[in-house]
Amino acid sequence: FGRLKAGLSRSAAKLTGGIAEVFTKRKLDDAALEELEEQLIAADLGPTVAARIIKNFRSTRFGKEVSPQEVRETLAAEIGRILAPVAKPLEVDTAKKPFVILMAGVNGAGKTTTIGKLAARYRQAGLMVMMAAGDTFRAAAVEQLQVWGARAGAEVVTAPANSDAASLAHDALARAQKAGADVLLIDTAGRLHNKTALMEELRKIIRVIRKLDESAPHAVLLTLDATTGQNAVTQVGIFKDMVDLTGLIVTKLDGSARGGIVVALAEKFGLPIHAVGTGEQIDDLRAFDPEEFARALVG
Ligand code: GDP
Repeated sequence: FGRLKAGLSRSAAKLTGGIAEVFTKRKLDDAALEELEEQLIAADLGPTVAARIIKNFRSTRFGKEVSPQEVRETLAAEIGRILAPVAKPLEVDTAKKPFVILMAGVNGAGKTTTIGKLAARYRQAGLMVMMAAGDTFRAAAVEQLQVWGARAGAEVVTAPANSDAASLAHDALARAQKAGADVLLIDTAGRLHNKTALMEELRKIIRVIRKLDESAPHAVLLTLDATTGQNAVTQVGIFKDMVDLTGLIVTKLDGSARGGIVVALAEKFGLPIHAVGTGEQIDDLRAFDPEEFARALVG
């Protein structure tokens, strides 16, 4: 929790400072509510969440004198309520051999790192894990996955540069099935500048692995970089149109002054948030705890 709290402290400092400025010895009137709404939007919570929180304040506290502390407590409670329904750990069904996780996300979002962290976590739980280096266009991505595989103790299936990602995914699943692996993590390309090609590629991977297991993939996750703020919201919209996402992982919350984006994502999409990234090391992946997050966010 330390790292997440330290990371979110920048988001919190911004928000808390703003709230203190607006509310010290002041009645909750229209002008104060408007200023609070601006603070919430500046904290990346998004216009819808901001409007909802303001509406709530207006109906319960209008005309009363409120302290910054009260405002923060009310905010934390409200944010916690928005986050609670999406906080769901990713459950691996070990009856599937393997449980197939397809990982999507734009380049740089932390996809490969997150796959490595998940692999390590499942290995620690005693599961047999394999990974497929599906970003076949970027040699660096393949090498990076191999490094993570070595660290986590998981075999990485690769293919020559520029080869077909779907056929690699198919090979990897066939090998994982043969080996009796519990989990197969499939990395994918993140070339968002060519959306149509990326969509075709992701859909083809899914089509092809279904030839070996009709129920696969069992999870389709999108990795998002919190530091990109509202861009993360845009990315969910784009990827949702490409594939049926089943959940999100939000990375880089350790150094981000934009933790509020998680609230905007929760409100807008309602997709499960399975975990949050809090650093570059193998253990820096945390379960998403809505109350803890809400409290850390408002400081
Ligand atoms: P990909 O292109 O989506 O596969 O992204 P990578 O996994 O290569 O990650 C891009 C960069 O972000 C790397 O330098 C990672 O070390 C870094 N990174 C990934 N997750 C986190 C995180 O949770 N916190 C921090 N601080 N850095 C991260």
